[in-house]
Amino acid sequence: MMWHNENMTAHDLVIRNAAIVDGTGAPIRHGDVAMTDGVITEVAKSISGRGTQEIDADGLTVTPGFVDIHTHFDGQATWDPILAPSSIHGVTSIVMGNCGVGFAPALPTAEQHAWLIGMLEGVEDIPGTALAEGMAWDWETFPEYMDALDRRQYSIDVAAQVAHAPLRAYVMGARGADPLEAPTADELARMAKMVQEGMRSGALGFTTSRTYLHRTKAGAPLGTRFSSADELLALGTAMAETGTGVVQLISDAYQSPDNDFAIEEMGLMEAMARAMGRPLSMTVQQPEPLPDRWREVGAWVEQGVNKGLSLAMQVAVRPIGILQGLTATVNPLLPCPSFTEISQRPLSEILVALRDPQRVARIVAEHHAALAHMEGLGSEMFGGFHKLYPMENPVNYEPSPSDSIAARAQ
Ligand SMILES: [Zn+2]
Repeated sequence: MMWHNENMTAHDLVIRNAAIVDGTGAPIRHGDVAMTDGVITEVAKSISGRGTQEIDADGLTVTPGFVDIHTHFDGQATWDPILAPSSIHGVTSIVMGNCGVGFAPALPTAEQHAWLIGMLEGVEDIPGTALAEGMAWDWETFPEYMDALDRRQYSIDVAAQVAHAPLRAYVMGARGADPLEAPTADELARMAKMVQEGMRSGALGFTTSRTYLHRTKAGAPLGTRFSSADELLALGTAMAETGTGVVQLISDAYQSPDNDFAIEEMGLMEAMARAMGRPLSMTVQQPEPLPDRWREVGAWVEQGVNKGLSLAMQVAVRPIGILQGLTATVNPLLPCPSFTEISQRPLSEILVALRDPQRVARIVAEHHAALAHMEGLGSEMFGGFHKLYPMENPVNYEPSPSDSIAARAQ
Protein backbone atom coordinates (compact mmCIF):
# COMPACT_ATOMS: atom_id res chain seq x y z
CA MET A 1 0.00 0.00 0.00
CA MET A 2 3.02 2.29 0.39
CA TRP A 3 2.73 3.61 -3.17
CA HIS A 4 -0.83 4.79 -2.68
CA ASN A 5 0.09 7.99 -0.95
CA GLU A 6 -3.44 9.26 -0.35
CA ASN A 7 -4.34 6.04 1.46
CA MET A 8 -1.58 6.37 3.99
CA THR A 9 -2.70 7.03 7.53
CA ALA A 10 -0.99 10.28 8.38
CA HIS A 11 -3.07 11.58 11.29
CA ASP A 12 -4.95 10.26 14.30
CA LEU A 13 -8.00 12.32 13.36
CA VAL A 14 -9.07 14.38 10.36
CA ILE A 15 -12.19 16.55 10.57
CA ARG A 16 -13.30 17.41 7.03
CA ASN A 17 -15.47 20.07 5.39
CA ALA A 18 -15.89 22.07 8.59
CA ALA A 19 -16.66 25.74 9.05
CA ILE A 20 -13.55 26.65 11.05
CA VAL A 21 -13.73 29.48 13.60
CA ASP A 22 -10.27 29.63 15.12
CA GLY A 23 -11.00 32.01 17.99
CA THR A 24 -8.55 34.70 16.86
CA GLY A 25 -11.30 36.85 15.38
CA ALA A 26 -10.37 35.75 11.87
CA PRO A 27 -13.30 35.19 9.48
CA ILE A 28 -14.86 31.74 9.18
CA ARG A 29 -13.08 29.52 6.66
CA HIS A 30 -14.03 26.13 5.32
CA GLY A 31 -11.64 23.23 5.34
CA ASP A 32 -10.08 20.31 7.20
CA VAL A 33 -8.39 20.00 10.59
CA ALA A 34 -5.93 17.22 11.41
CA MET A 35 -4.85 16.06 14.87
CA THR A 36 -2.23 13.67 16.18
CA ASP A 37 -1.50 12.86 19.83
CA GLY A 38 -4.16 15.32 20.90
CA VAL A 39 -2.48 18.23 19.11
CA ILE A 40 -3.75 20.06 15.99
CA THR A 41 -1.10 19.41 13.35
CA GLU A 42 -2.65 20.84 10.20
CA VAL A 43 -5.43 23.19 9.18
CA ALA A 44 -5.96 23.49 5.43
CA LYS A 45 -8.52 23.82 2.65
CA SER A 46 -8.04 20.14 1.96
CA ILE A 47 -5.78 17.73 3.86
CA SER A 48 -4.53 14.84 1.73
CA GLY A 49 -3.27 12.44 4.40
CA ARG A 50 -5.90 10.12 5.87
CA GLY A 51 -6.81 9.94 9.53
CA THR A 52 -7.18 6.78 11.59
CA GLN A 53 -10.51 8.39 12.40
CA GLU A 54 -12.29 10.71 9.99
CA ILE A 55 -15.25 12.93 10.73
CA ASP A 56 -17.30 14.60 8.00
CA ALA A 57 -18.24 17.96 9.57
CA ASP A 58 -20.16 19.30 6.55
CA GLY A 59 -22.63 21.86 7.88
CA LEU A 60 -20.95 21.87 11.29
CA THR A 61 -18.57 24.29 12.99
CA VAL A 62 -15.17 23.53 14.50
CA THR A 63 -14.07 25.96 17.24
CA PRO A 64 -11.72 25.96 20.20
CA GLY A 65 -13.53 24.81 23.37
CA PHE A 66 -15.32 27.59 25.22
CA VAL A 67 -14.29 28.47 28.77
CA ASP A 68 -17.38 29.44 30.76
CA ILE A 69 -16.05 31.51 33.66
CA HIS A 70 -19.46 32.04 35.25
CA THR A 71 -21.46 28.92 36.12
CA HIS A 72 -23.28 27.52 39.14
CA PHE A 73 -22.60 23.81 38.61
CA ASP A 74 -21.50 23.41 42.25
CA GLY A 75 -24.29 20.96 43.06
CA GLN A 76 -24.67 19.27 39.67
CA ALA A 77 -20.90 18.64 39.52
CA THR A 78 -21.30 16.26 42.45
CA TRP A 79 -23.50 13.89 40.42
CA ASP A 80 -23.39 14.71 36.69
CA PRO A 81 -20.18 13.67 34.84
CA ILE A 82 -21.50 15.18 31.57
CA LEU A 83 -22.17 18.65 33.02
CA ALA A 84 -25.02 19.18 30.58
CA PRO A 85 -25.95 21.40 28.90
CA SER A 86 -22.61 23.29 28.89
CA SER A 87 -20.50 20.42 27.53
CA ILE A 88 -23.08 19.77 24.80
CA HIS A 89 -22.79 23.38 23.67
CA GLY A 90 -19.03 23.26 23.14
CA VAL A 91 -17.88 24.41 26.57
CA THR A 92 -14.74 22.50 27.56
CA SER A 93 -13.93 24.27 30.86
CA ILE A 94 -16.28 25.63 33.50
CA VAL A 95 -15.66 27.78 36.55
CA MET A 96 -18.19 27.45 39.38
CA GLY A 97 -18.65 28.86 42.87
CA ASN A 98 -19.54 32.30 41.48
CA CYS A 99 -21.53 35.08 43.17
CA GLY A 100 -20.55 33.97 46.67
CA VAL A 101 -22.76 30.86 46.60
CA GLY A 102 -21.77 27.22 46.73
CA PHE A 103 -21.89 24.10 48.88
CA ALA A 104 -18.63 24.20 50.81
CA PRO A 105 -17.82 24.44 53.58
CA ALA A 106 -20.95 22.79 54.94
CA LEU A 107 -21.58 21.64 58.50
CA PRO A 108 -22.57 17.96 58.31
CA THR A 109 -26.14 18.63 59.44
CA ALA A 110 -29.40 18.15 57.54
CA GLU A 111 -30.35 21.67 58.59
CA GLN A 112 -27.33 23.31 56.99
CA HIS A 113 -27.57 21.15 53.88
CA ALA A 114 -31.21 22.20 53.45
CA TRP A 115 -30.28 25.86 53.99
CA LEU A 116 -27.51 25.73 51.38
CA ILE A 117 -29.88 24.08 48.91
CA GLY A 118 -32.49 26.79 49.57
CA MET A 119 -29.83 29.41 48.87
CA LEU A 120 -28.85 28.01 45.48
CA GLU A 121 -32.50 27.36 44.67
CA GLY A 122 -33.33 31.00 45.32
CA VAL A 123 -30.24 32.61 43.80
CA GLU A 124 -29.93 30.52 40.65
CA ASP A 125 -33.35 28.90 40.24
CA ILE A 126 -31.80 25.44 40.50
CA PRO A 127 -34.56 22.96 41.45
CA GLY A 128 -34.13 22.12 45.14
CA THR A 129 -35.52 18.62 44.64
CA ALA A 130 -32.76 17.84 42.13
CA LEU A 131 -30.12 19.14 44.55
CA ALA A 132 -31.59 17.29 47.53
CA GLU A 133 -31.70 13.99 45.63
CA GLY A 134 -28.44 14.39 43.76
CA MET A 135 -25.97 15.58 46.36
CA ALA A 136 -23.98 13.04 48.38
CA TRP A 137 -22.49 15.61 50.81
CA ASP A 138 -19.29 13.59 51.12
CA TRP A 139 -17.41 16.69 52.30
CA GLU A 140 -17.44 19.27 55.07
CA THR A 141 -14.57 21.68 54.40
CA PHE A 142 -13.74 23.28 51.05
CA PRO A 143 -10.61 21.13 50.56
CA GLU A 144 -12.80 18.06 51.21
CA TYR A 145 -15.23 19.32 48.57
CA MET A 146 -12.30 19.54 46.13
CA ASP A 147 -11.38 15.95 47.05
CA ALA A 148 -14.98 14.90 46.44
CA LEU A 149 -14.80 16.46 42.95
CA ASP A 150 -11.46 14.71 42.39
CA ARG A 151 -13.06 11.34 43.06
CA ARG A 152 -15.43 11.94 40.15
CA GLN A 153 -14.73 12.12 36.42
CA TYR A 154 -15.96 14.76 34.01
CA SER A 155 -16.39 15.18 30.29
CA ILE A 156 -14.91 18.70 30.60
CA ASP A 157 -12.54 20.58 32.91
CA VAL A 158 -13.98 21.86 36.19
CA ALA A 159 -12.69 24.67 38.42
CA ALA A 160 -14.14 25.85 41.74
CA GLN A 161 -13.93 29.04 43.79
CA VAL A 162 -14.32 29.66 47.52
CA ALA A 163 -17.76 31.21 48.00
CA HIS A 164 -18.44 33.77 50.73
CA ALA A 165 -22.01 32.84 51.78
CA PRO A 166 -21.37 29.21 52.84
CA LEU A 167 -18.15 30.31 54.53
CA ARG A 168 -20.07 32.87 56.61
CA ALA A 169 -22.77 30.34 57.54
CA TYR A 170 -20.17 27.74 58.51
CA VAL A 171 -18.13 30.04 60.72
CA MET A 172 -20.81 32.42 62.09
CA GLY A 173 -23.76 30.03 62.30
CA ALA A 174 -27.22 31.60 61.87
CA ARG A 175 -25.65 35.09 62.18
CA GLY A 176 -23.70 34.36 58.99
CA ALA A 177 -26.92 34.35 57.00
CA ASP A 178 -27.93 37.76 58.37
CA PRO A 179 -26.59 40.61 56.20
CA LEU A 180 -26.77 43.02 59.15
CA GLU A 181 -24.37 40.89 61.22
CA ALA A 182 -20.61 41.38 61.00
CA PRO A 183 -18.11 38.67 61.93
CA THR A 184 -16.14 39.07 65.17
CA ALA A 185 -12.37 39.45 64.81
CA ASP A 186 -11.97 35.74 65.62
CA GLU A 187 -14.59 34.71 63.10
CA LEU A 188 -13.03 36.88 60.40
CA ALA A 189 -9.61 35.39 61.10
CA ARG A 190 -11.09 31.90 60.81
CA MET A 191 -12.79 32.74 57.52
CA ALA A 192 -9.57 34.25 56.16
CA LYS A 193 -7.70 31.07 57.09
CA MET A 194 -10.33 28.96 55.37
CA VAL A 195 -10.09 31.08 52.20
CA GLN A 196 -6.37 30.32 52.19
CA GLU A 197 -6.94 26.60 52.78
CA GLY A 198 -9.40 26.64 49.89
CA MET A 199 -6.90 28.36 47.59
CA ARG A 200 -4.18 25.88 48.56
CA SER A 201 -6.54 23.00 47.76
CA GLY A 202 -6.86 24.33 44.21
CA ALA A 203 -9.59 26.98 44.21
CA LEU A 204 -9.30 29.61 41.48
CA GLY A 205 -10.44 32.46 43.68
CA PHE A 206 -12.88 33.95 46.18
CA THR A 207 -16.39 35.17 45.29
CA THR A 208 -19.13 37.25 46.92
CA SER A 209 -22.55 38.77 46.21
CA ARG A 210 -23.80 42.26 47.08
CA THR A 211 -26.93 42.33 44.92
CA TYR A 212 -30.55 42.64 45.98
CA LEU A 213 -31.40 40.17 43.20
CA HIS A 214 -29.82 37.28 45.09
CA ARG A 215 -32.16 35.84 47.68
CA THR A 216 -32.66 32.47 49.29
CA LYS A 217 -35.73 30.45 48.38
CA ALA A 218 -37.40 31.88 51.48
CA GLY A 219 -36.82 35.39 50.07
CA ALA A 220 -34.10 36.40 52.56
CA PRO A 221 -31.14 38.46 51.29
CA LEU A 222 -27.76 36.72 51.32
CA GLY A 223 -25.63 37.21 54.43
CA THR A 224 -22.93 38.70 52.20
CA ARG A 225 -25.18 41.47 50.84
CA PHE A 226 -23.85 44.33 53.02
CA SER A 227 -20.45 42.92 53.99
CA SER A 228 -18.19 45.71 55.21
CA ALA A 229 -15.05 46.83 53.42
CA ASP A 230 -13.10 45.43 56.42
CA GLU A 231 -14.57 41.96 55.93
CA LEU A 232 -14.02 41.92 52.15
CA LEU A 233 -10.51 43.37 52.36
CA ALA A 234 -9.55 40.78 55.00
CA LEU A 235 -10.82 37.87 52.91
CA GLY A 236 -9.49 39.26 49.62
CA THR A 237 -6.01 39.91 50.98
CA ALA A 238 -6.00 36.49 52.65
CA MET A 239 -6.56 35.03 49.20
CA ALA A 240 -3.85 37.25 47.72
CA GLU A 241 -1.33 36.08 50.36
CA THR A 242 -1.41 32.66 48.71
CA GLY A 243 0.08 34.34 45.63
CA THR A 244 -2.79 33.44 43.34
CA GLY A 245 -6.51 33.86 42.78
CA VAL A 246 -9.13 36.19 41.37
CA VAL A 247 -12.03 37.82 43.22
CA GLN A 248 -15.40 37.62 41.45
CA LEU A 249 -18.30 39.63 42.76
CA ILE A 250 -21.71 40.87 41.80
CA SER A 251 -22.76 44.27 43.12
CA ASP A 252 -25.71 46.51 42.28
CA ALA A 253 -23.32 49.17 40.92
CA TYR A 254 -24.48 48.35 37.39
CA GLN A 255 -28.18 48.48 38.17
CA SER A 256 -28.89 50.79 41.10
CA PRO A 257 -30.58 54.08 40.14
CA ASP A 258 -28.64 55.64 43.05
CA ASN A 259 -25.52 57.12 41.48
CA ASP A 260 -23.76 57.83 44.79
CA PHE A 261 -24.26 54.21 45.81
CA ALA A 262 -22.77 53.01 42.52
CA ILE A 263 -19.72 55.25 43.00
CA GLU A 264 -19.29 53.91 46.55
CA GLU A 265 -19.47 50.31 45.32
CA MET A 266 -16.95 50.96 42.56
CA GLY A 267 -14.68 52.59 45.17
CA LEU A 268 -14.89 49.44 47.30
CA MET A 269 -13.98 47.26 44.32
CA GLU A 270 -11.06 49.52 43.49
CA ALA A 271 -9.86 49.40 47.11
CA MET A 272 -10.03 45.60 47.07
CA ALA A 273 -8.11 45.31 43.80
CA ARG A 274 -5.47 47.70 45.14
CA ALA A 275 -5.09 45.95 48.51
CA MET A 276 -4.92 42.50 46.93
CA GLY A 277 -2.80 43.23 43.89
CA ARG A 278 -4.91 40.48 42.30
CA PRO A 279 -7.55 40.59 39.55
CA LEU A 280 -11.11 41.53 40.47
CA SER A 281 -13.90 40.63 38.10
CA MET A 282 -17.39 42.12 38.45
CA THR A 283 -20.71 41.27 36.86
CA VAL A 284 -22.06 43.98 34.54
CA GLN A 285 -25.35 43.81 32.66
CA GLN A 286 -27.56 46.28 30.85
CA PRO A 287 -30.85 46.61 32.74
CA GLU A 288 -33.66 48.26 30.82
CA PRO A 289 -34.22 51.16 33.27
CA LEU A 290 -30.50 52.09 33.23
CA PRO A 291 -29.39 51.40 29.67
CA ASP A 292 -26.18 53.49 29.86
CA ARG A 293 -24.82 52.72 33.34
CA TRP A 294 -22.59 49.98 31.93
CA ARG A 295 -20.70 52.66 30.01
CA GLU A 296 -19.94 54.49 33.27
CA VAL A 297 -18.88 51.27 34.97
CA GLY A 298 -16.73 50.49 31.94
CA ALA A 299 -15.09 53.92 32.06
CA TRP A 300 -14.41 53.44 35.79
CA VAL A 301 -12.86 50.05 35.15
CA GLU A 302 -10.68 51.53 32.40
CA GLN A 303 -9.49 54.29 34.73
CA GLY A 304 -8.60 51.65 37.32
CA VAL A 305 -6.71 49.63 34.73
CA ASN A 306 -4.81 52.76 33.68
CA LYS A 307 -3.82 53.18 37.34
CA GLY A 308 -2.34 49.68 37.24
CA LEU A 309 -5.23 47.81 38.88
CA SER A 310 -6.47 44.51 37.51
CA LEU A 311 -10.21 45.16 37.14
CA ALA A 312 -12.44 43.38 34.64
CA MET A 313 -16.12 43.28 33.77
CA GLN A 314 -17.98 40.00 33.30
CA VAL A 315 -20.61 40.71 30.70
CA ALA A 316 -23.43 38.38 29.72
CA VAL A 317 -23.19 38.00 25.94
CA ARG A 318 -26.93 37.49 25.60
CA PRO A 319 -29.80 38.77 27.70
CA ILE A 320 -31.20 36.25 30.14
CA GLY A 321 -34.33 34.64 28.69
CA ILE A 322 -37.23 33.06 30.50
CA LEU A 323 -39.27 30.35 28.82
CA GLN A 324 -42.94 31.14 29.33
CA GLY A 325 -46.03 29.18 28.39
CA LEU A 326 -49.64 28.60 29.37
CA THR A 327 -48.62 25.29 31.00
CA ALA A 328 -45.11 26.45 32.07
CA THR A 329 -44.00 27.60 35.54
CA VAL A 330 -44.11 31.22 34.40
CA ASN A 331 -46.44 33.11 32.13
CA PRO A 332 -47.81 36.68 32.10
CA LEU A 333 -51.30 35.58 33.19
CA LEU A 334 -50.18 34.06 36.51
CA PRO A 335 -51.07 37.15 38.61
CA CYS A 336 -54.70 36.76 37.43
CA PRO A 337 -57.03 34.56 39.53
CA SER A 338 -59.29 34.08 36.49
CA PHE A 339 -56.32 32.37 34.84
CA THR A 340 -54.90 30.44 37.80
CA GLU A 341 -58.27 28.80 38.45
CA ILE A 342 -57.98 27.09 35.04
CA SER A 343 -54.17 26.80 34.83
CA GLN A 344 -54.01 23.18 36.05
CA ARG A 345 -56.30 21.90 33.30
CA PRO A 346 -54.95 20.29 30.10
CA LEU A 347 -53.75 22.83 27.51
CA SER A 348 -56.68 22.15 25.16
CA GLU A 349 -59.16 23.00 27.94
CA ILE A 350 -57.19 26.13 28.95
CA LEU A 351 -57.38 27.33 25.33
CA VAL A 352 -61.16 26.79 25.25
CA ALA A 353 -61.59 28.67 28.54
CA LEU A 354 -59.46 31.55 27.23
CA ARG A 355 -61.84 32.02 24.30
CA ASP A 356 -64.62 33.04 26.71
CA PRO A 357 -64.89 36.86 26.28
CA GLN A 358 -66.06 37.35 29.88
CA ARG A 359 -63.03 35.49 31.24
CA VAL A 360 -60.76 37.52 28.94
CA ALA A 361 -62.27 40.76 30.26
CA ARG A 362 -61.74 39.61 33.87
CA ILE A 363 -58.13 38.60 33.15
CA VAL A 364 -57.38 41.96 31.51
CA ALA A 365 -58.77 43.83 34.52
CA GLU A 366 -56.95 41.58 37.02
CA HIS A 367 -53.70 41.93 35.08
CA HIS A 368 -53.90 45.74 35.13
CA ALA A 369 -54.57 45.70 38.88
CA ALA A 370 -51.75 43.25 39.63
CA LEU A 371 -49.14 45.03 37.50
CA ALA A 372 -49.89 48.36 39.19
CA HIS A 373 -48.23 46.97 42.37
CA MET A 374 -45.31 45.23 40.70
CA GLU A 375 -41.81 46.43 40.02
CA GLY A 376 -38.42 45.08 39.00
CA LEU A 377 -38.18 41.56 37.66
CA GLY A 378 -41.85 40.82 38.44
CA SER A 379 -43.16 43.60 36.24
CA GLU A 380 -40.75 42.57 33.47
CA MET A 381 -41.77 38.91 33.69
CA PHE A 382 -45.51 39.45 33.87
CA GLY A 383 -45.86 42.73 31.99
CA GLY A 384 -42.95 42.89 29.55
CA PHE A 385 -45.02 42.10 26.45
CA HIS A 386 -42.74 44.32 24.36
CA LYS A 387 -39.96 41.79 24.89
CA LEU A 388 -42.00 38.61 24.92
CA TYR A 389 -41.77 36.65 21.67
CA PRO A 390 -43.49 33.54 20.36
CA MET A 391 -40.97 30.69 20.38
CA GLU A 392 -40.42 29.32 16.92
CA ASN A 393 -38.76 26.12 15.77
CA PRO A 394 -35.89 26.66 15.21
CA VAL A 395 -35.64 29.36 17.85
CA ASN A 396 -34.90 32.85 16.53
CA TYR A 397 -32.51 34.37 19.07
CA GLU A 398 -32.51 37.79 17.43
CA PRO A 399 -36.14 38.61 16.79
CA SER A 400 -37.19 42.05 15.62
CA PRO A 401 -39.18 44.26 18.03
CA SER A 402 -42.03 44.06 15.51
CA ASP A 403 -42.35 40.33 16.33
CA SER A 404 -43.04 40.96 20.03
CA ILE A 405 -46.42 40.12 21.56
CA ALA A 406 -46.98 43.84 22.24
CA ALA A 407 -46.30 44.74 18.59
CA ARG A 408 -48.52 41.92 17.34
CA ALA A 409 -51.35 43.05 19.60
CA GLN A 410 -51.37 46.55 18.12
ZN1 LIG B 1 -23.75 34.02 39.33
